Amino acid sequence: MTDRLKHLQPISFRAQLAALFLFMAFLLGGMILGFFKYQQDQLLHTSMQRQAEVVARLAVQDVARMVYLDDPDVASDIAERLRGIPEILEAGFFGPDGQQLLRLPPTYLPARRLDPDRRTHHSGWGAIGSGPPGLLQPALNVAQQKAQNLFFLMVGGSLVLGLLFGLFLDRSFIARLAELSQAIRHAASQEDYSQRLDVHRMDEIGTARAQFNKLLERVEQQTETLRYQALHDPLTGLYNRHRMLLELDKLLRRRPAQGYHAVCYLDLDRFKVVNDTCGHSAGDELLQQLSNELLGYVSRHPAYRLGRLGDDEFLVLARDKPAQDIARFLANIKRLVENLHFRYLEREFPIGISIGCILIKDEPTTAIEVIGAADGACYRAKRLQHGGAITLRLGDQQVQDHKQNMDWVSRIYTALENNSFRLHLQPIVAPRETAPYRHFEVLLRLQTDTGLIGPDHFIPVAERFGLSPRLDLWVIEAVVTQLYENPAFLDRLELLAVNLSGLTVTDPHNRHAIDTLLKAFPIPPEKLCFEITETAVISEMEQAVQFIDFFRRRGIRFALDDFGSGMASFGYLQHLEVDILKIDGSFIRPLRQDPILEEMTRAMVRIGHITGKRIVAEQVEDGETAALLQAMEVDYLQGYHFARPAPFEQFIGQKQAGSPSSSVG
Ligand code: C2E
Ligand code: CA
Ligand code: CA
Repeated sequence: MTDRLKHLQPISFRAQLAALFLFMAFLLGGMILGFFKYQQDQLLHTSMQRQAEVVARLAVQDVARMVYLDDPDVASDIAERLRGIPEILEAGFFGPDGQQLLRLPPTYLPARRLDPDRRTHHSGWGAIGSGPPGLLQPALNVAQQKAQNLFFLMVGGSLVLGLLFGLFLDRSFIARLAELSQAIRHAASQEDYSQRLDVHRMDEIGTARAQFNKLLERVEQQTETLRYQALHDPLTGLYNRHRMLLELDKLLRRRPAQGYHAVCYLDLDRFKVVNDTCGHSAGDELLQQLSNELLGYVSRHPAYRLGRLGDDEFLVLARDKPAQDIARFLANIKRLVENLHFRYLEREFPIGISIGCILIKDEPTTAIEVIGAADGACYRAKRLQHGGAITLRLGDQQVQDHKQNMDWVSRIYTALENNSFRLHLQPIVAPRETAPYRHFEVLLRLQTDTGLIGPDHFIPVAERFGLSPRLDLWVIEAVVTQLYENPAFLDRLELLAVNLSGLTVTDPHNRHAIDTLLKAFPIPPEKLCFEITETAVISEMEQAVQFIDFFRRRGIRFALDDFGSGMASFGYLQHLEVDILKIDGSFIRPLRQDPILEEMTRAMVRIGHITGKRIVAEQVEDGETAALLQAMEVDYLQGYHFARPAPFEQFIGQKQAGSPSSSVG
């Protein structure tokens, strides 16, 4: 119904009014005509009545005679006489009770048909009925003609008057209303808010038009504000990511004529320090100051554009400039940032910047790809070079590496969504212990169409791009679910170790997420162990200490993984309250061939024992090494010599006597 209504063309207000007006004119005309007709009929009736009475009075004597004498000659006499009056076309004579006595053209009614009693009652015979219209016809015709003329004159006059009135109405009200309606429709359909209506008279329509103008003005302002907000960063007023992507799209559509286009990713160094120590308002102030400085510089160089991508990341685009110009420009930006001397609450914060720049000549690329490459170059500048700028071309190996990493990022996301990760277990064996084992380490694998992929391929990428906490949470959830669903295995289980990446341990958000998971699946906490590596938590030692403390209070064990591989391992032992030390595989594999490694291992075991920790030696590949380690009183051994990592499900049955094997080592 409403759909059908939508397709109907709206009838304009003016057309409706014109139709109404015409209708009213016709109605009025009809009423006038009806009135005149009635008047005319009345006139005709009265004049006929009167004439008939005259004629009746003249003829009544003869008629009475005719009735009494019942003489047809008298009747024809009367008829003859009446016929002599040309105005009388037809006439009738009636008795007192209405019966017709004579009709002209003459029809003689014999007296015998009359009731004899009535013959005496002739006194009432004066009643003469009115004939049909036609009496005095010519005079009436003239009167009628006059009335008609008057009628047409009046209708014509009222039409002209009506037209004039209509014109007045139209100009004063309807046209103004119609214009307002047209303007509203135009504003709504074309989103054109620039039109304004004339306001001469401040009647109701004038007020509505003025309000309409005001409304459009406000809409125009708000649209402008929205447009500005959509393209600018609210904090700094610089172009935002969206606007920079549009600019970059435009840039990439034109090949540089002489020089290069450049896409430069800028990331502040030590911004986090300001944010963490002084709060976000300090960080905001720093970003504003810095943006002002940068914008002041960039706006003097029309071939360059600057925008903020988010947090402390910026993007600079250069259009068709020689490589040296771009390098000079970036060096100046870097100097500007370093000379900022940001002060907050009496403290000065040294700020630096890392820049990854991609030069483009005629390589086919997309905005997303080139920004990704610049981001990768910036990451290199920050991590490998500790600041400064790295400039690359899209074909460079480093850019390709970064691209591969990004491919891995999306593979990790997809695998998480599709549940393509698998848990494998590797037994951790006490001296003289045989299968079924009771102590394991969980190791992650990715199931693909072509087989299993080991964590060395994706854990470093996940750590680098901040995805490792999601992986670790996935693992913890899968582990607790498996344990919860296999109570017999859980009963036998002594300890299950799960690896955690540095990011999982140092970001307090994950603590809550892990705790929630552990509460949802009540597993005896002393059966779980988190393995962390000192190198992963070194930069955020305080957070790591809090993490360990939080979960140890809940009964969960901790192991310090890859022990010895970091330079300052012994130093960190004091800070990190752990239950187990896992001596790194790089000591164990070549142990028998290297007396120095042997001595170092012995020292680690001793110190570990002195501080009350259990010792695990990992990557034990042969019996001699196992014997040597046992002689050193290492508490647990783990390695291919005992068992390779194998699917979790394989250990749940635990019928295996030998070593389950895994396609990934
Ligand atoms: P890791 O924690 O040091 O784990 C021990 C690694 O040594 C495992 O490699 C294991 O398969 C391998 N291995 C065991 N026995 C032997 C042996 O006799 N000889 C040799 N050469 N290697 C042996 P994998 O499974 O490839 O894991 C590599 C690393 O990936 C792990 O080192 C760990 O740091 C990380 N990782 C594995 N699973 C996870 C996980 O769920 N979360 C996190 N964050 N990291 C994980
Ligand atoms: Ca481990
Ligand atoms: Ca290890």
